[in-house]
Formats: sequence, C-alpha cells, structure tokens
Amino acid sequence: MTDCVVCQQVEKKLGVVFEDADIVALLSPTPASAGHIIVAPRQHHVILEQVPDWIMGKLFTTANKVSISLFEGLGVHGTNLLIQNGAAAGQTAPHVSVHVIPRMENDGIDLLWQPRQLGEEEMSTIELKVKEETKGLTLEKEPPKPKTEEPKPKKVEYSLSDEENYLIKSLRRIP
Ligand SMILES: [Zn+2]
Repeated sequence: MTDCVVCQQVEKKLGVVFEDADIVALLSPTPASAGHIIVAPRQHHVILEQVPDWIMGKLFTTANKVSISLFEGLGVHGTNLLIQNGAAAGQTAPHVSVHVIPRMENDGIDLLWQPRQLGEEEMSTIELKVKEETKGLTLEKEPPKPKTEEPKPKKVEYSLSDEENYLIKSLRRIP
C-alpha cells in the first residue's frame, strides 16, 4: 500500500464526501474546524507544478462546490480555500490538496498575516523577476482527448450533378 495518507484515505474510502474519475473530496482527519474538507486530484501529485491544467480547473471547481455545500449544509459563515504547496508552506501530506476550511464569526482560527512594507525598488525588482518567468505563459484549455480510432474518411462519391447542372445551364444559354 502507498505511503501517502491521502491516497490511503481514498483507497479505504474514509470520509469521502464526493468523488469522480479525477477528483476526490474527503473529510480532513485533522480538521481545523468541523467540516474541514480536503479536495484532491485522485492521481498522486506531490506538488502543484505536477498537476495538469485541466485537473487544476476541476480541482478548484470542486473546491468551490464543496464550499457551497458547507454554506448550505452546515450553515457556515465563510470558507478559506488553502493550498500548502511545499514543506515551507506547511504542506505535510505529499499529495496536492485544497483545504476547504469552514469559518464562523470569531472562531479563533488564525490564517492572517501581518502585511509588510516593501521598498519601491524591491517591489519593482520582484515585478521584473516574476514577469520574466510569466511571459509566454500558456494554459492548456482542453483535457487531453482520449485516444479513439481515427474516423475513416468518408468515401467521396463523385457526383456529376453540379457539372450536369452547369452543362444544362450552359446548354440553355446556347441559342
Ligand atoms: Zn497520494
């Protein structure tokens, strides 16, 4: 069996609240609050960079639907959608996950940070460096097409009708 806690939970079907061929949504075994859901690609990807664009689309769409379900089903006041991408960002399970964390007024969960003041020069250096990386960035719009047999080209029946018409019209013009 896999070492990955997310894959294990999927295999055991523990706390699965939604699943399809590509995406699973599970109750977090270590919830920040009641109803904390983990939305993950079914396939094991360790970091975001490895996730195909079309799966990212499905991942976020599912996270949004799950969030709506928490508002509707649990009467939560808000949700945080959180991705911990990399150990430095607090990622503990080696499987890309979107945490959908239910929030209530004054629930004491602290996901806030103290804003920092950066100098103008530092800001523009950062802007340039990031732009250098994002230029030429393209998105895959479609999921890869499943391989199907090429449809056989239809046999083109050569029809004389147009030519015949033309001939007839031409003939009519002949006095
Ligand atoms: Zn996994």
